Amino acid sequence: MEIQQNISLKNKNWFQTGGNAKFYCEPANETEFQETLKFSQDKNLKIFVLGSGANILISDNGFAGLVIKPNLNKIIIKDEVLTAQAGVTIENLINYSLDNNLIGLEEFSGIPGTVGGSVFINIHYFNYFLSDFLVSAKVINKKTELIKTVDKTWFHFGYDKSKLFDKEYFLVSATFKLKKASDLEIAYLKGKRDERTKQRNNRYPTSNTCGSFFRNFHENEVNLKINNEAITFIAYYLDKIGIKGNLCVGKACVSYQHANMIVTQKGATSSDVINLAQKMQQLVFENFGIIPQPECQLIGFKDWPLFKFKSHHSKSFDDTLSLNLP
Ligand SMILES: Cc1cc2nc3c(=O)[nH]c(=O)nc-3n(C[C@H](O)[C@H](O)[C@H](O)COP(=O)(O)OP(=O)(O)OC[C@H]3O[C@@H](n4cnc5c(N)ncnc54)[C@H](O)[C@@H]3O)c2cc1C
Repeated sequence: MEIQQNISLKNKNWFQTGGNAKFYCEPANETEFQETLKFSQDKNLKIFVLGSGANILISDNGFAGLVIKPNLNKIIIKDEVLTAQAGVTIENLINYSLDNNLIGLEEFSGIPGTVGGSVFINIHYFNYFLSDFLVSAKVINKKTELIKTVDKTWFHFGYDKSKLFDKEYFLVSATFKLKKASDLEIAYLKGKRDERTKQRNNRYPTSNTCGSFFRNFHENEVNLKINNEAITFIAYYLDKIGIKGNLCVGKACVSYQHANMIVTQKGATSSDVINLAQKMQQLVFENFGIIPQPECQLIGFKDWPLFKFKSHHSKSFDDTLSLNLP
């Protein structure tokens, strides 16, 4: 397996921005994955494991370490249990399961990404979470390079949350428990998959975005209630400030289709995206006293480039924020 140097990451992420990886490789099996980790240990390099780049923003300065994109694409089915390696796309995962009369994952139709990136953030669509289906997984330890099998509880899954955020382990494969279905049900669900994908493609931008840039708020972060229910949906706040299709910084704009989606135009930089995201944070703070936090993973930034959340009890913007520009 070749470890390449000074590789552009621009064409490896959906925003199509960002600098180069100092080292880059695509291990094609578990042993090669282990070898890449050994390489990074020997050279004392930072590691970033890349999926399809649908939920990341890479610094314009690139990533001064080793970027590993697992080229692990196998799927195995045994009875109602399906195991997919980290590099399998969600699209292929759904297609393969339906082609084998297994159902359950169709709700995620049209969500871009790989199994690795999707288990990492525990992808969700309304009330459906990928963790509802995951039963076990194989993970690899960053330092020891050992691969072990873990069960679902190991992940401590939540909304936008899994143990993989600690970056001590990376996902090698995930095993999902699905349901057997008849040919008739499969025909219906294949239609549902196509319909869901079409709807998503009409509702959301289909390129140059990371999907939702900010996460929803946690209940304890918000003051605003309607009918006694805490308003946690970030889209509510962003919609209210009227930025949809209306706010651009440099060549990054808030999508006209969705107030929480930033889209880049040709020639955009990651700094444009950061500057726009800061502006959005500032506007939500000025209007509602809370600061949205990113769902999009920020990669390669020397310092945290956005405003941080402290508490909704903070009195002023300065009191609430600490900002380190890259
Ligand atoms: C148009 C659009 C719509 C979207 N809609 C939704 C939606 O409805 N619901 C939703 O939940 N998300 C949505 N997203 C976000 C995105 O689809 C998911 O976050 C997806 O899981 C990202 O997968 P990826 O392979 O591209 O990961 P990447 O963007 O490449 O990486 C994301 C994170 O996962 C980590 N990662 C990747 N592989 C591994 C691995 N093997 N082991 C450990 N960590 C790993 C990376 O290190 C990084 O921190 C949308 C994105 C877009 C662009």
